Amino acid sequence: MSTEPELRRDPVTGRWAIVAPQRALRPMALSDAGPRHRSADERTPCPFCAGQEYDTPNEVFAFRDTGSEPNGPGWRLRVVPNKFPAVRRDAEPATPAAYSTELGAGRGALFCSAPAVGAAEVLIDCPEHIDNPTQLSDEQFRDVLRAYRERLVALATDASLEYVAVFKNVGAEAGASLGHTHSQLIALPIVPELIQAELTGALAHFTHTRRCIFCDLIQNELALGARLVARSDNFVAVTAFAPRFAYEMWVLPLAHQPRYESITNGAALELAQLLKRVLKALDESRHSPAYNWYLHTTPLRAGELAHYHWHLEVIPRTARPAGLEWGGGCHITTAAPERAASELRAALPASG
Ligand SMILES: [Zn+2]
Ligand SMILES: [Zn+2]
Ligand SMILES: [Zn+2]
Repeated sequence: MSTEPELRRDPVTGRWAIVAPQRALRPMALSDAGPRHRSADERTPCPFCAGQEYDTPNEVFAFRDTGSEPNGPGWRLRVVPNKFPAVRRDAEPATPAAYSTELGAGRGALFCSAPAVGAAEVLIDCPEHIDNPTQLSDEQFRDVLRAYRERLVALATDASLEYVAVFKNVGAEAGASLGHTHSQLIALPIVPELIQAELTGALAHFTHTRRCIFCDLIQNELALGARLVARSDNFVAVTAFAPRFAYEMWVLPLAHQPRYESITNGAALELAQLLKRVLKALDESRHSPAYNWYLHTTPLRAGELAHYHWHLEVIPRTARPAGLEWGGGCHITTAAPERAASELRAALPASG
C-alpha cells in the first residue's frame, strides 16, 4: 500500500474523503488534554514559538520586520507547509475528470480515487505562545485575517486547485494538536461537499427570487434581532437558525461579497474586533469551550457569483456528535439559538 494521500469518492453520494496514512505520524501535544483544556502540559517553547523556526518547514509567507531574514526571528506571523500534510503539493494531478463530482451515468468507475494534490499550510498566528486567539492584539488578529486573503490569492494561481478550506481548531476536542494558536488551510482539487451544498441551495434561492440568500438572511436577522449576537458597521454575527452545535455562530459581511479575497485591510481589522468580542462572549458564557471556525467562500474558479456570499462559521464543541448526527446528518442541540444569542449578547465585552 502506498502512503501517498489519496482522494476517494464515495460510490453512492459522491462525497470526497482523503486517505492520508502518513498523518498518523504527527505529534499530538494535546492528545491527552481534557475536552476543554487547551494546553495541558504542553512543553514551551513549542515548534511554533519564536526562536524555533528550524523546527518547521521553510516558510511560504510571513509578515516580518523589514530587514529580517526568512526562517529566522523578526516575524509577526508565519505560514509554513504542514509537516504532516493530508494533501501533497508535489504529487502529479490526475485528469480534471478524475476530480469530477458528477453522479449517475457520467460518473465512470464505481471506485474512483485520484492523487490528493493540493497544499496544506499552517498559519502561525503570532510568535508568542498564546493558546487563546482572543488574547491576540487587534492588529495580530487582523493580520491572521489578512494572511487568509494573501494565501487564497496566491494559491488561486495554481490551476489544479478548486477550493481552499481555511480553518482554525482551538482546543484538543476541536482537533488541535498543538496549543500555540494557529490556523490551517488545505487547498484541494475538488469543491468539498458542504460548500457544494451551500452553492446549490443558494442558486436555487437566486433562481426563484433573483436575490442572494445570505443577503436575505442578514436583512431578516437584523429585523428580527432574536439571533443577533453583535454587529459592526460592515459585519454581523448571528447564531445559526438550525445549528449543529449549541452556540453555533455565523459571521457575515453586510454587503454582498462572494469572495473573501476582496476583504480590505480596514475591513479585516473591523472583522477581527467583532470576532474577538463574540469569541470572548463565547468563552465567558460557555467556560472556554473548544471550537472550530472556518471560512466558506466562492470556489477559486467560480467567478463573482450573485448568489453566494462568503462568511465565517464558528462551531463550539458543546456536544459530541452521536448516532443520529453521524447516521442521519441531523444534529440535536439543547440550547435554542435565540436563548444562546441573548446569553452571548449579555456576555459581550464593551466594544473598542
Ligand atoms: Zn509556542
Ligand atoms: Zn449576498
Ligand atoms: Zn456556510
